[in-house]
Amino acid sequence: MTITMDNKTDVYSRPNARFNEDGTLEIRASAVGNCRRALWYEATGHQVTNPRSDDSLTMLEAGNALEPVVLRAMERAGWDITPTDRDNPRMVSLRLGPTLVVSGHVDAAGVAPIFGNEPSIVEVKTRGPEAYKKWRTLGAERSHPESVWQAAFYTYAAFDQARDVVIATLNTGERTWDYEVIPARRVERAFEQAGARLGELAAHHLVNGPDPDVLPERDFTADDWQCKRCPFLNVCLPGSAAEAEDEPAEDAEPVSDEEVRKALHEYEEIQDTIREFEDEKRWVTDVLRAWLKQQGQDKARLEGREKTRTVGMVKSTRYNVNHKKLNALLDPEARAEIVTENVSHYLRVS
Ligand code: SF4
Repeated sequence: MTITMDNKTDVYSRPNARFNEDGTLEIRASAVGNCRRALWYEATGHQVTNPRSDDSLTMLEAGNALEPVVLRAMERAGWDITPTDRDNPRMVSLRLGPTLVVSGHVDAAGVAPIFGNEPSIVEVKTRGPEAYKKWRTLGAERSHPESVWQAAFYTYAAFDQARDVVIATLNTGERTWDYEVIPARRVERAFEQAGARLGELAAHHLVNGPDPDVLPERDFTADDWQCKRCPFLNVCLPGSAAEAEDEPAEDAEPVSDEEVRKALHEYEEIQDTIREFEDEKRWVTDVLRAWLKQQGQDKARLEGREKTRTVGMVKSTRYNVNHKKLNALLDPEARAEIVTENVSHYLRVS
């Protein structure tokens, strides 16, 4: 394994995969979790069939622009941060074998306040509220393993050994941030996992050379979000984009524009009524609570309209799990047995 460091200004707009002049396959560190077939399409010069939309490019650029904001917030919280010079970013590059190189730019190195003693790689991510909640609850190794793989590559490239890694994440909805420390032994494991994953692509390269027509297996299926956002979707899974658009709704009974407008207006009326009831309920419970207090009691009997009722204060206790500590203490497999996911779908009108 050899390590080189270089300054390159095109680092932010490099392709995810390409063949260098010496025939080496170079993978961008931020793309180590990407579909290996998509990486192959890109490296071998296939035409992009499904370019990013303007909205998704804006999202991407907004995320990049917010990274320094997170680093400054960390500094204010006492971290000793050495950010990458974004005008002249430092490129790190790690050779994993005769034909494979992983390269990228480190967001920052940082030392934790008070107890930190050696710099760690800080990988900054920006996430919407749902993804942020998922990350804090499950930990990065379960919610976004590719971010840990990326930081693991940077760690080995910068320090030539496993070290603790810091994943710092901004919630773009509420503009709050938090961080997670992945211990060095788990960084080592993440590095091995990502290396094995890319090793299969390197083996494909060794056997077939840079042949654009001999493709690695697909890593995802048409239902996965990776395929839905893939720039090579139409060449890899022809027809699936159109099929997804044409797919009829599950209960195929057609709904007219007039019906949907009426339903929305009724929804708004119901919401107003619920709000009025809630205001009234709050008023009466305030009166009852104040009366109980005047009596100096926690519980009392009162005649209602149809029966005698008990009015009383009830104590309820909520138990919180400190996911940050749990994630730091336990391996992802142990956490997966303790914290499970349960996805439900509901309609939101805002
Ligand atoms: S469409 Fe899906 S399987 Fe095909 S290259 Fe893209 S991500 Fe991979």
